[in-house]
Amino acid sequence: MKNADLLKIAASHGAPVYVYDSEKIISQYRRLTKAFDGVKYLKLNYAVKALSNIAILKLMNSLGSGLDTVSIQEVQLGLLAGFKPEDIIFTPNGVSLEEIEEASKLGVRINIDNLSILEQFGNKHPDVPVCVRINPHVMAGGNTKISVGHIDSKFGISIHQIPHLLRIVELTNMNVNGIHMHTGSDILDIDVFLYASEILFETAKNFENLDFIDFGSGFKVPYKEGDIETNVEELGKKLSARFNAFCKDYGKELTLAFEPGKFLVSEAGHFLARVNVVKQTTSTVFASIDSGFNHLIRPMLYGAMHHIDNISNPDGRERYYSVVGYICETDTFASNKRINEISEGDVLRFKNAGAYCFMMASNYNSRFRPAEVLWHNGEAILIREREIFDDLIRHQVDVKDLFVPEDTEQEKEDIEKKEGAEAK
Ligand SMILES: *Cc1c(COP(=O)(O)O)cnc(C)c1O
Repeated sequence: MKNADLLKIAASHGAPVYVYDSEKIISQYRRLTKAFDGVKYLKLNYAVKALSNIAILKLMNSLGSGLDTVSIQEVQLGLLAGFKPEDIIFTPNGVSLEEIEEASKLGVRINIDNLSILEQFGNKHPDVPVCVRINPHVMAGGNTKISVGHIDSKFGISIHQIPHLLRIVELTNMNVNGIHMHTGSDILDIDVFLYASEILFETAKNFENLDFIDFGSGFKVPYKEGDIETNVEELGKKLSARFNAFCKDYGKELTLAFEPGKFLVSEAGHFLARVNVVKQTTSTVFASIDSGFNHLIRPMLYGAMHHIDNISNPDGRERYYSVVGYICETDTFASNKRINEISEGDVLRFKNAGAYCFMMASNYNSRFRPAEVLWHNGEAILIREREIFDDLIRHQVDVKDLFVPEDTEQEKEDIEKKEGAEAK
């Protein structure tokens, strides 16, 4: 997308606004499928939680992607978008047996991540095949908040519990058709990932009826200049070879599955916000935007860095700015970063705003959540309207006469006078 396209969208749809470039999503999808073209059956299940707008889901469906879902509502969204149940896998963590049964009734694949639910589900529904989520205890990625494979993690069934898992499978007579791992969201080192995969292959040998092995996700994309990204081509080459060798030993062509979120949509997203105030203090220059962590919480929540540029003045002299929001709390998007000279009214663009950005937006400070626009074939298509005041109060119950303001002395006098006059 060109700056001019983004500026046009900010002008016609208003800012703040999220813009998603369909071409980038498609090219990332193709890049990943190409990297694994050495395996016979590959299935990518897009992780809905990254960005769940129905237009994005339909785009994924048109590409042949499946879905990875973590709540019954995401399952329902996927079905609404036209996915076949068998193309959806339900991979929740810590949800109730009832929710898993509900998903199973809808016909989607079930992925279970603890022994307690596995046993209960197996006792009640031995005929429903399930996938099991294994925790290989491999620390992939640097950020502990998004690293989910380590020893203290709440995710998955520990590899040290495999004997117990097998006992449950045997006693309930259930059928395990897939095994899964998801080690975290930032694969820096391919060898670490391959090491975790070896553990998964080793575990897979315990199950006779597998249809697929799901390697989760964690493909890292660059957020700022100089950032390393997962080399998916190298990973594709190495893991495909290993996978094919495993299938040969196993005696069956299995499906290799992944469930990328960030990789598919992060870089496709641009968040546009207008500058309200340029404020020079004794120590820094603040650019205050017409938005805050209510719209983009990742910098505050994870310490994530979103590259920011001034698309209204891309050739301007570079100066140091701290970009902050309007929330009445510390709300910093960037500290002392070089940005082309900012004037009030300029539009700043935040990169990598496709994954976990709009999805985590809230109404904090009683602000509206922004609009979402899809840029597709050179056209800006509105895919979610900006909220309005009605949205803020839609589910509030304004109980009549629950509290009434006390009358002031003056009001009491007025009432007495009025009543006196009426009596006469
Ligand atoms: C969040 C999640 C993903 C997607 O992770 P990304 O880093 O966005 O690719 C995949 N699988 C599971 C089970 C998840 O919870």
